[in-house]
Order: sequence, then C-alpha cells, then structure tokens
Amino acid sequence: MSPADALEERRKKTTLRKVPRKHAGKITQPYAIMERLIKEVEEFAPLKMAKIIIVWKSGWKPTKDDILRHAQIRKLTELEREIWGDEYDLCMLLHRELWQSSRFSEEEREIDIHHEMLHPVPEVDDKTGDQKMDDRGRLCWRLRNHPIQRFPEEIDRYGLDKIIHVDETAKSAVNDELSQEEAKAEENDEKRPLLRQGAETPGSNGEWPADFRDVTIEQVQFSPKLTKVFLKAGVKTLGNLVDLQKDHGDWWSKKIKGLGDKGVEDASARLVAFWAEHPEYCDGATQDATAPDSEATPGRMLITLKADLYDCNGDPMVRRGEPISALVDGDRPYLIDPVDRERVYLAAEDYEVAAAAPEPATA
Ligand SMILES: [Zn+2]
Repeated sequence: MSPADALEERRKKTTLRKVPRKHAGKITQPYAIMERLIKEVEEFAPLKMAKIIIVWKSGWKPTKDDILRHAQIRKLTELEREIWGDEYDLCMLLHRELWQSSRFSEEEREIDIHHEMLHPVPEVDDKTGDQKMDDRGRLCWRLRNHPIQRFPEEIDRYGLDKIIHVDETAKSAVNDELSQEEAKAEENDEKRPLLRQGAETPGSNGEWPADFRDVTIEQVQFSPKLTKVFLKAGVKTLGNLVDLQKDHGDWWSKKIKGLGDKGVEDASARLVAFWAEHPEYCDGATQDATAPDSEATPGRMLITLKADLYDCNGDPMVRRGEPISALVDGDRPYLIDPVDRERVYLAAEDYEVAAAAPEPATA
C-alpha cells in the first residue's frame, strides 16, 4: 500500500453528499423525478412552496428484520435553517449505492421519491385553515406518518383491500364508541380530558406492554410534576403523547396546559432516555445493538454532547454537557429521536465519553 493509499484508508468515511440539481447542463434524475411529481400529482401542490434539497446517503444496510431503508425525508431544524440562510425547508436522503445500481428501475426510483414526498404536509392553523408560519415568515411543515404498517404475510393471506378495510372499520367503530362516551361525559363532566382514551389504561403489574403505545405515563417516569401535567391533560399513555406530537408537530406542547418551555425540554430529555432504555419499542432501532453478526459490544455508553441536539421537530432533545446514556451500534453511539423514534447517530467530534465502562441495560 502506498503512503497516499494508507492515508486514504485512515481518513474518516463520510456518508452524505449533496445531489447537484444540474449536471452538464441537464437536471439530474432525482430532481427531475421530484420536480415532475410536484407538477403531476395533485396532492403535491403545496410542496411547490417547499424548498427541498436532495442528499445522497451511503451505507444504509438491511436491518436484522431485513428492512432496508432506501430513502428518508426530514425537516431541517431551526439551527440548520439558520445556518443555511433559509435556503431549505426539507431534506430528502436517497440511498446512494441503490441509485448507482442499474437494477433499480426508473419507476422504482419514482416510487421511492413519491413515497417520501407523501410525508411532508403543510402544518395548518386550526382556526384559519391556512398554513402556519413561524415568526420569521417561514412556512411550517409537518411530517405525517404512514397510515398502513402491515406485514407482507397478511396481505398475501387476506389481500390488500381487506387489510386496509380493517383499519377503516376499526377507526369508525372506535369513533362511534368515543362519541357515545363523549356525549355521556359531557352530561356530567364539564372538565373533559383533552385526549380521549380509546382503551383502558394498562394494568400496573410492573410488566412492560408489548406495544409502546400502551406504556403508561407513570411508567415513563417523568418527574412527578410533569406526570401530573400530562395526566391532567388526558395524556395517559405514550401512545397518547406520540399522537399529540405527530398531530401537532412543533406545536404539540401548546396543547398541554402548564407544560411550558422547561417542561417540554424535561419531557423531551426523559423521552430520549426512555427510548434508549427501551430499544425494543423503537421501529427498526434495536437490531444492531444485539445483532449476533455485529463485532461490536452491544450496550450503551454514557456520553455528554458538545452541542445541543435537536429532535426532528427542531425542539431541543439533549442539552450540551448533560450526561446521557446512548445506545451503541458498532462503536457509534446513537440516541432515539423522541418524536419520530428514529436513530440519531453522533459523530466522534460531537460527544465525549462520560464513563468508560458501558452502563448495564436497565430494562
Ligand atoms: Zn415513509
């Protein structure tokens, strides 16, 4: 190996690269597809006002469940927007190696871009029906979640139509039940909770429910004060809380009386820690920490961050200098974004190890 090659070997691998919009005078394929879809697809009309940057992402590998991420869209944080001079609102990451493959057809590329573009929608002001703006006149966007999350086996057995129909039936049935309950509650209770409970609060027998949505607010172990504030607002489970964050994006905290900025920060910090303590509840977030083929020690690392970290809504997630127990993938620590429960990897220059010995899992 030549000295130059050896140096090359030692250099840190980067995984992100901006896709140029034009190359040799022609609009590049990802941008051409995206811009054509914005023109063609009626639902994408609001995205004419969105500034979307496309970035190649290298190194996405299939998870233990054999799920390969091909693409991802995210909102730029307030900090990123500030640094970029408001040039972009949203960033679409595309799997670089996949896009280099000739086996990935033009139509499949379009399907992926079409999918990602279905996530961002205008954040609408309930009162006026208009898209919200921040105090600097920038349009607010919200990333919506997939309404369908199903296994291929059920689609094989029952067919896609029936599977989709189950969800419709369930929603309208629960809505009927809820409106009856609500009518009853209205008669004798003027202080109705903000959120309606669909199911009974799970029993506190100390066991962890199979679905994170059924974890009670008490089980998350927010501070006693926060727990009280959430319960008073009718947020009884993690499911309630996640729905609130999803439905209202950056504005979710405004829906909870008495939470305040400090409360949001404390809640967020506790949630980050909670997801890290319970990777089993995070979609696709567990596999690497326990994967048998992984060379690395599964576990955690107590670290402190050198800069504040923001969640996908742009709210502070962890403050710099605050010790936090991170999950480890290979030798890379990561945290779980409290809002979309996606992994947030930390670069070596972003953190310091607070304790050398890995902390035992608390679950
Ligand atoms: Zn998606």
